[in-house]
Order: sequence, then structure tokens, then C-alpha cells
Amino acid sequence: MTQQFEGFLYPPRSSHRTAVHLQVGEEGDILVLGEDGNVLLQALWRELKLSQRVGGSARRLTFSDGAVVETSDNDAVDSIDREHRGTSVASLMHRMERLTPFTLVVLAVTLAVAVSFFKWWLPAASDRMAMTLPPSLLDSIGNQTLKIMDKGFLEPSTLAASDREKFEAQFQRLLGTVPELGQTSTLLFRSAPTLGPNAFALPNGNIVLTDEIIALATNDLQVVGVLAHEISHVENRHIMRSFLRSTSVAVIIVLITGDMAELTEMAIAIPTFMMEMGYSRDFEREADARAVDLMTAIGEDPAHLADMFELMAKNCDEEDCGNTWLSSHPDTRARIASIRGRD
Ligand SMILES: [Zn+2]
Repeated sequence: MTQQFEGFLYPPRSSHRTAVHLQVGEEGDILVLGEDGNVLLQALWRELKLSQRVGGSARRLTFSDGAVVETSDNDAVDSIDREHRGTSVASLMHRMERLTPFTLVVLAVTLAVAVSFFKWWLPAASDRMAMTLPPSLLDSIGNQTLKIMDKGFLEPSTLAASDREKFEAQFQRLLGTVPELGQTSTLLFRSAPTLGPNAFALPNGNIVLTDEIIALATNDLQVVGVLAHEISHVENRHIMRSFLRSTSVAVIIVLITGDMAELTEMAIAIPTFMMEMGYSRDFEREADARAVDLMTAIGEDPAHLADMFELMAKNCDEEDCGNTWLSSHPDTRARIASIRGRD
């Protein structure tokens, strides 16, 4: 919409004034017309210098050649200025339309840097941070996580001592193939009536095995397969890597402050995170592949893990799975095929 107002034109270095009519087009292009309709001046609104509004006194619009237009139509001037120079959306749109190729390149580069920061750099920084967290910090986060789970949905295991010893011995066999985890990983038994068959690796490397998953297994080696899978999550610090990737703000804070203890505060969210988010498909595939290696290393058939997946899938068909191990481990069919393919 073209806007118009009246004023007086003072040519550069002259006090001789001429009555003029100003028209401002949608692009902010100004025409200064004489009384006979002749175009006396042409410019863009954003190139003008505009005097401040002081009460009802006349405003001065200074053109780049030094010519000045004086007008007392303050409202028109303010409204045009808002549209063509202000911060309104309309003004922004006008500016966008006027973007030069150079500005577009700068914008594109800025966007590309921002995208790569969040898509690649931050996950890589989160991974590096997760892999360098000191054991003492992981231990405090792990203990806190278990405490919250124990208060919430975990109950003491009712597994017979002889059964515990049996699985403990198998767990030690697996750990024997990953010497660097030997000192830090403990097998914990719990019951989880509301969760059902489940197992999970805590941030400090301890692994919780539920009575329900043991009850579902038709042979002990299926449980050993699950343990091998969980050990791989520990070995690759999947839980802290997933958690840090999801809380990029936490990573940025630690990078800035250098205070890793900040993470302990945030660890309160880990149990919920573990139950609701689970691991990425890539992490699961990595854990499956490593579980196959670990089972092979102790001379057992990795197909037991695939059998366990099938048992859980069948169990899910029969009753609502809720938060079972399977629901946090998607792509079951593909993973069973993949594990069997590696035999
Ligand atoms: Zn897993």
C-alpha cells in the first residue's frame, strides 16, 4: 500500500523551500513530487536519516545528497518508519526480500554451522564426555539411579541363593572376556512385578536382572545372552552417552564450567530416561553384535539371545508388555535375524 504525506523540500545547502508531496511505496521507495507532479527526488526510506519525534514539532528527513524534507505529519512518518525500518514482521519480510546473494550465503553458512553443531559436534562431544567420566562420578550417578528405581518399581528378588550363584558364575565368565570391566560391574537381582521381564545396565556398570526375565527363560543361557547384551551397553557407556546426547544443555554447561559434578544433579532424570527413551537403534545393534562376540568368546551359542527375544515377543503377544525389556529394545524381528545371521 502506498502511503503519502505533505512536506517542504529544502535542496542541499539552501534555505529555499518548496511544498512537496511524498509517496512511499511498498518497498520503501520514496518519490518526492513537486506541486506540478514532477519527481524532484527519489530514494529508499531506509537510506534516510530521520530526526527524533519531539512533541508536535516538524520532523526532518535528510536524504543522502543533503536535501531535507520537513513535515509535521508525524504519525505518517512513524507508521512508515515502523514498516520500512522498524522491527515489525512486515519490515523483516521487506528486508528478507532485499537479501543480497552475499547475505544469503552468510545465512546459509550460519545455518549449516548451527545444524552441524547440534547434529554432529554436540553428540560427538557428549560421547567423548561420557567416555571420560570418572568412575567415582559414574558410581554416584549409578547408585542414585538404583535408589530411585528401588523406591519406585523394583522390589527385593525372591530368587533362590543357588540360582543367584549360578547366574553370578555365568556373569563372571562373561566379565572374564572384558577384563577392564571386571572391577566395576556387579550383578544385582531384583523383582519388578510392574515391569515384568527386564534387565538393565546402570551408569556405574552394575547390571540389574529381574526375577521375571529369569522365570521367562527356558534355559539359563538365554539369560546369559541378555547379560552379554547388557555388558556391552556398559562397555560402551551407552546409558550415559544416550543421556548426555539427549540433554545437550547439560553437556554445554559442563563444557563451559568444567564441573562434571553438575551431572550428578541431573542424574535424577536417568531412571525415567532409561524406561521411556531406551537406547537408539544403533546402540542396540552394537550391543547385539558385541553380545554375539561375548557369547562366542565363552564358547556358548549366541542364538540363545535370539531365543530370548522370541520368548519375550511371544510373551508380549499374550499380555500387555508395558515396560518390558523388549519394549525398550525395538526392531525385534530384524535383531533376531541379525543375531542368527552372525552365528
Ligand atoms: Zn539393549
